[in-house]
Order: sequence, then C-alpha cells, then structure tokens
Amino acid sequence: PTVHGNLLLGPTAEDIDDKEGQFTTESGLAEIMRKAALSVDKLPPMRQVITSFAGLRAHEAMDDFIIEEVEDAKGFIDVAGIESPGLTCAPAIGAFVAELVNNIAPGNKKANYISRRTGVKSMASASREEQMDLIRSNPAYANVICRCEMVTEGEILDAIHRPLGARTLDGVKRRTRAGMGRCQAGFCTPKTMEILSREWKMDLNAIVKSGKDAYVLTGYNKQSMEREG
Ligand SMILES: Cc1cc2nc3c(=O)[nH]c(=O)nc-3n(C[C@H](O)[C@H](O)[C@H](O)COP(=O)(O)OP(=O)(O)OC[C@H]3O[C@@H](n4cnc5c(N)ncnc54)[C@H](O)[C@@H]3O)c2cc1C
Repeated sequence: PTVHGNLLLGPTAEDIDDKEGQFTTESGLAEIMRKAALSVDKLPPMRQVITSFAGLRAHEAMDDFIIEEVEDAKGFIDVAGIESPGLTCAPAIGAFVAELVNNIAPGNKKANYISRRTGVKSMASASREEQMDLIRSNPAYANVICRCEMVTEGEILDAIHRPLGARTLDGVKRRTRAGMGRCQAGFCTPKTMEILSREWKMDLNAIVKSGKDAYVLTGYNKQSMEREG
C-alpha cells in the first residue's frame, strides 16, 4: 500500500539484451499477481488495475553501488549503479557524498541553508476547515481539475509558481497527483494544459508531457493534422 492509499504491486526484474525493450509481458504480469496474492488478502482482479509500467534500468554487473571520486577525473564523483535498495539508501548516500565533496573541497555549511521544503497543500487530505481556509485564501482551490484524485486549480497554481515550478504535464502530476487516478489524466489533461499555457504564457501546442518533444497536441483537429501531413 502507498501513502496515498492505493496498491502498488511488483516489480519483476529480468536481464534482457534488447536495449529498447520497454514492454510489459503477460508472464511478468502473471508473476506479479501470483506473488502479490501471497501477501495481499482479496487481491483485486487484473481488470481493475489502473496502469502497468515497464522500463529499462542500467544494471551494475558487480551488484554494488559505485560511489567514489573518479581516478582519472579528479573532483568528479561517480554515484552510479544505484539499484535497489537505492531509494532506502538515498539519505545515507547523500551524507556520504557530502563527506567526499568536503574532503575534496572543504567548505562551510551555508548560513541561510533551508533544509525543509514546504509541500503543495493537498485539498484531498485537508480537513473541512483547512479546505474552507484555502478556498477563502484563493477561490481556485474550489475549482476541481483532476476529479479522480481531487486536485484543484489552486494546487496546480502552487505547483507552477513555486521555486523550480512545474512546466510540463508530468511536472504537475509529480507535484500534485493530478492525472494519477483511474482515468489516467483522460479528463484533466486539457484543463491542466490550459492552466500551464495561461500561467507560462506558452502556446498550447508547445506544452509537453515531459521532457523535450513529447508534445500532446499535433494539430487543431484531425483534418488539420492530415493537411499538415
Ligand atoms: C521498479 C523498481 C522498484 C524499485 N523498488 C525499490 C524499493 O522498493 N526500495 C528501494 O530502496 N529502491 C527501489 N528501487 C531502486 C531505486 O528506485 C533506485 O535505486 C533509485 O531511484 C536510484 O536513484 P538515482 O538518483 O541514482 O537514479 P534515478 O532515480 O534513476 O535518477 C536519475 C535521474 O537522471 C535523469 N537523467 C537520466 N539521463 C539524463 C540525461 N542525459 N540528462 C538529464 N537527466 C537525465 C533521469 O530522468 C532521472 O530523473 C526500485 C527501482 C525500480 C526500477
């Protein structure tokens, strides 16, 4: 179970030679369901699964993290091969790398260093009073954009206008959960795009899902797409 109350099953890990092989397989999904059933009582049927993922991860042949100053590139620190349990180890890795850096180039901790990040306020997990306070502070908190996860325009505006603000659909999703629910962004994508376009003064066509060239719109309508070839 995740902190958001949904169920995340898996993963499997298979060594493959295909460097482009980002696909799920029937056997892999069946193995996940079989193993999950050992620890989850009343596992929902496969047809209730919202989405499944597969990806390629670089594999460190020696099965260990590589965290060191590179022999022939002094001052450059490799933090590579961070496979599972890399997430659990992340705080310790961070402290270790800071120590390595300090040994190479000793420095003082910044006096005005801010060690905590204030997260985006979540309407879905706020109490009734907190919800009302947020709506009073900005009525955009009453405008629900993502119905599945109950994410409001106010939260998306916060995600956009904070330091290192979201500029893409995935950027908004990662900060607010908009698009992570059952419809997988089917309903909220056009609305989130309109907000991004308005706030960043960007053309709707320029908005990407994530990263470069992952455009969502390819034309005004099907006919214009066909005309443009
Ligand atoms: C399915 C799965 C389940 C896992 N489960 C667990 C678990 O239960 N517990 C646990 O502790 N660990 C788990 N892990 C491992 C953990 O997620 C990784 O060890 C950890 O995320 C590695 O962190 P990282 O910062 O080294 O790399 P990443 O988190 O992969 O970060 C690398 C970043 O660099 C970016 N990037 C890559 N190339 C470029 C480029 N050319 N230019 C700019 N940016 C680039 C990527 O987009 C990414 O954001 C799991 C991993 C997977 C795949």
